[in-house]
Amino acid sequence: MILNVQNLSHSFEKFLALNDINFKIEENSIISILGPSGCGKTSLLRLISGLERIQKGSIHLHDKLVADKKFQTSPEERPVSYVFQDFALFPHMTVIENIRFATKSHKTKTQFLNQIISLTKVDNFLNQYPHSLSGGEQQRVALARSIASQPKLLLLDEPFSDLNASLKKEIIDDTLHLVKSLDSSAIIVTHNAEEAMFLSDKIIVMNSGKIVQIGTPLEIFYKPINVYVASLFGEINKFNSIVNKGYCYTPLGNIKAENFNNGEKVKIIIRPEGLKLNKQPSPILSDINGIVVDSKFIGTHAIIHLTVSDNLGKKFHIHSKVSGDFLPSAASSVSIDIDSKYVFIFSRN
Ligand code: ATP
Repeated sequence: MILNVQNLSHSFEKFLALNDINFKIEENSIISILGPSGCGKTSLLRLISGLERIQKGSIHLHDKLVADKKFQTSPEERPVSYVFQDFALFPHMTVIENIRFATKSHKTKTQFLNQIISLTKVDNFLNQYPHSLSGGEQQRVALARSIASQPKLLLLDEPFSDLNASLKKEIIDDTLHLVKSLDSSAIIVTHNAEEAMFLSDKIIVMNSGKIVQIGTPLEIFYKPINVYVASLFGEINKFNSIVNKGYCYTPLGNIKAENFNNGEKVKIIIRPEGLKLNKQPSPILSDINGIVVDSKFIGTHAIIHLTVSDNLGKKFHIHSKVSGDFLPSAASSVSIDIDSKYVFIFSRN
């Protein structure tokens, strides 16, 4: 176990920024912390790194207590390195000096340093000072410096946010391969759910200072614990309903609602991927039809905007995500089938 955080709570004056946080990280794993601005992601990393003094709970690194209410080791004593949003590069050192400073000993192999320099693509400005670099360049230097110390645990607070899209993919991919090959683990803070899925073995979803769900990308995507988690991966179709004899009525037909009480108020979430469309109305497969409002091609897939009506004639605007070559024209009718793996039902009580 590289990290064990138990019962961690933290307040800034009267504001409870972290509320009873518990989680563990196995060695050689990459974890993302996903959550909206202000939910406590940076505060959590600051406590793990030792930059913030712990108030309640405990933190173990490599099975050794590093912080609780009575005891606290300094950041330098922890096998951790971090890249925070402000980069914190040494302004009086050049890029190469910043990176070398982080290496544990002068014996650190030149070959390893060169690998990091090439991976983070800082080779073109090794002799420049941080103030002369762009935000994205400083971010890469900070990343290089954090890897150079070969930490057991790397804490990355939105480390790729300033990089342009193509560079981002390349650097993320290379960084993660290197982290794994170094026998290290990493915690990466991000706002972006797709990035979290791509990066990590497990995702910790946070909201308002609490952990809402911990799971593999598959679990978080296909078994979200509530509407908030379900809505992290792009927009969703939402309907309110009431359970009636194991089913709940929606404008897309009756949906099976096992494990809910008769009369229970529920919210039904259907991911756009779960709405399969067919240009020809197909009463055998589905008697639910929608009218196409617009078809938007976005590369490998398309988002089809539709209007459906309930049994009282009330209209609902919904979205379906289909493969990019299916673009029904506006005002045409399509039949709709639901793939139940993209349907989630939550109690509203
Ligand atoms: P972002 O994604 O915007 O960086 P975050 O999830 O990392 O946000 P934190 O920076 O951990 O959130 O902040 C959590 C809450 O604690 C916020 O409401 C913030 O204003 C508050 N906070 C953080 N640090 C301090 C501080 N030193 N003093 C007072 N309040 C603080």
